[in-house]
Amino acid sequence: MSESCSNSGVSRRSVLLAAAGAAPLLALTGGEAQAKLAMTAVKYQPDPKDGKQCDGCNFFVAPNSCKMVDGDIAPTGWCLLWVKKPAT
Ligand code: SF4
Repeated sequence: MSESCSNSGVSRRSVLLAAAGAAPLLALTGGEAQAKLAMTAVKYQPDPKDGKQCDGCNFFVAPNSCKMVDGDIAPTGWCLLWVKKPAT
């Protein structure tokens, strides 16, 4: 009986240690886990297209970022994912 309790204790400790080791990984993959797309994958260009540009896109984050595409995004840029920013 005491042997099984001992085994149980070791097992629980192993589980706790494993969980503690995994915690930082979970934290890393929790918030910013969503990888952005590469500029080339969405045909990003630094110039507007057909009157559409990043600062008029719903995904643009001023001054030079995007929620969907990785890298330095020009306000005058454009890519395939362009979606008109809703009127405020
Ligand atoms: S057009 Fe929109 S989705 Fe594409 S890079 Fe510009 S802000 Fe991002």
